[in-house]
Amino acid sequence: MANKPKILLVYTGGTIGMIKDYKTGALRAFDFNQIQEKIPELQHLDCDISTISFESPIDSSNMNPAYYVKIAEIIEENYINFDGFVVLTGSDTMSYTSSAISFMFENLQKPVIFTGSQLPIGDLRTDAKENLITSIEIACARVNNKPVIREVGLYFEYKLYRANRTTKINAEQFEAFASMNYPPLAESGVHLHFNHHLLFQNEAKENQLIFRKNLIDDIVILKLFPGITKKVVEAILNIDNLKGVILETYGSGNALTETWFINLLEEIIQKGVEVVNVTQCAGGSVILGLYETSTDLKRIGIINGRDITTETAVAKMMYLLGENLSQEDFKYYFEKPLRGEISSEI
Ligand code: ASP
Repeated sequence: MANKPKILLVYTGGTIGMIKDYKTGALRAFDFNQIQEKIPELQHLDCDISTISFESPIDSSNMNPAYYVKIAEIIEENYINFDGFVVLTGSDTMSYTSSAISFMFENLQKPVIFTGSQLPIGDLRTDAKENLITSIEIACARVNNKPVIREVGLYFEYKLYRANRTTKINAEQFEAFASMNYPPLAESGVHLHFNHHLLFQNEAKENQLIFRKNLIDDIVILKLFPGITKKVVEAILNIDNLKGVILETYGSGNALTETWFINLLEEIIQKGVEVVNVTQCAGGSVILGLYETSTDLKRIGIINGRDITTETAVAKMMYLLGENLSQEDFKYYFEKPLRGEISSEI
């Protein structure tokens, strides 16, 4: 490429955009458009950086589908004019957000890298600089005039992950994220090393970017625990207008076998509510029918979430519900990898 890559930094909020007021000790948001002043090192990167910031940056605990749409619209509006995107959000819900963005774009041909930090950018020991600088380098990386990354990634503490495979696992250590069921896409040491064979290969013949923003949020996560009562399950499954349930089961997809429980699930599946089985375990997969405790779930037509994370199950459910599919098609597409978020065979 003749010109320097053009990278758009999208700042939505979170710790990364804060500085410590050394007089008062309090953290406050700073004007992100002045990022180049805060991190002069950015000027040494071989790219042109532009920034765009939410008018009122948010803590990522306040993130929701309306904000997903706002982020995705910024990317869509600037897609032609930029070579890559680095999106800064708080780390708390970054896996949910980045995962949702991965579904909202089909045929993505440019990198969208999410990052943030555990310490504010103005802190002496901050992890923000490395996370931000390397994310920009990743967004700039090209081979044969094509971006190396053509999917939504999440970079934190020397590792680039497929965003829809991540979970925030630590509120203290700089290594805040893990991707238990899929190896890192790249690792940053002395060199930036890409695991090319693990990168998302877009199989579509038609490479036009498709943007979808109809997300349906009438869903619930039902996490099983020993002793869960009929009263509680009944109340949850009878939520008005409920369209989807993510059932967090034990181990390889196991649940209590009591008749009342199976009947309640069967009833709502027959009413057209989509029910997905995901495991509470951080790693590994649902294997329906492996134990007797999951054969009934299989019989009543529960969707097999295999090794998808709960965060990504939420995002994928919101996305697929917005597509108005038949129950059969919903199951088919949920169980099929669309953006590399679920393994096709275990
Ligand atoms: N509470 C912050 C947030 O998620 C933490 C962070 O930025 O990492 O917005």
